[in-house]
Amino acid sequence: MSFTDTVKEELSHAECTRHCCARAEVCAAILLSGGLSFRGRGRYGLSITVSRAAVSRYFYTLVKRSLGLSCEIRTLRANRLGETSAVELSFPEDSVPRVMDELCLHDENALFGVPVRPHPSIVENACCRAAFLKSAFLITGYISSPEKEYALTLSCAAPDMAKCLSELMHEMDISASVSRRRSGYVVYAKDAESVSVFLTLAGAHTARLSLENVRIMKDLKNQTNRLTNCDNNNIERAVHSAAQQSEDIRFLARELGFDHLPEWAREIASLRLENPEASLTELGALCDPPIGKSGVNSRLRRLADMARRIKEQQPDS
Ligand SMILES: [Zn+2]
Repeated sequence: MSFTDTVKEELSHAECTRHCCARAEVCAAILLSGGLSFRGRGRYGLSITVSRAAVSRYFYTLVKRSLGLSCEIRTLRANRLGETSAVELSFPEDSVPRVMDELCLHDENALFGVPVRPHPSIVENACCRAAFLKSAFLITGYISSPEKEYALTLSCAAPDMAKCLSELMHEMDISASVSRRRSGYVVYAKDAESVSVFLTLAGAHTARLSLENVRIMKDLKNQTNRLTNCDNNNIERAVHSAAQQSEDIRFLARELGFDHLPEWAREIASLRLENPEASLTELGALCDPPIGKSGVNSRLRRLADMARRIKEQQPDS
């Protein structure tokens, strides 16, 4: 089951309890499934088309409860295996004028009077805006599995509807963008926070929790990776400077003779050569008497300075 299926399944069981929101949901379902059609002579047809059985049951019940209407159920495009690929819910013909009035589905300026976006009164309340988006998701939404990426998209045919959906999302603090596709428009949100806010608004609380869990795991993993990289860098630096120290000591021994090194330098120099992988603290512990890390550091530094000064005095070869 894809994450889209999981979310739609959950939303199909999240009952809509307010009358105002039910209007917004039915309106979104009609508009986004292209269910308002002009039949000529001032007559219209109304339907909701969905691709999942659970979603069709949801809208059937919603229309029944909020408008008191029983839609006719028709199975569309059954494939050769007999599997249903879409279900159409048609509103009873004699109810169409009343439903269109109730959902403000008239637009005198649009072609054949068919609106492409909801009337402002439908999405006036914040609760109804969330309901409209929930319904839009049930009809045309897609959400990626959070393990893979954070992405939520709503598809629609008309640029005006795309604009409307992205405006609704912005009003709900979801950062959405619109992109043109061959078959229409896609409104999308691509950050974890926006996807999470959308799921909360739509009422998919279980899905939101699983998204948040993935988010926490990903954050932890990133943090661990950062720390490991940091450790690796430190180790690399330490190995590099230990190698440099040994090289300086060998150079001094060649130039001055090991026994001619100052007394304070001899012990640490031979310990360094004998323990090329030891840390400064470990070298300090091997000294007699033991000395601290900063003591070891300052001695090795003085040796490095000596080596550098001698190299500077030598003519370039
Ligand atoms: Zn409402």
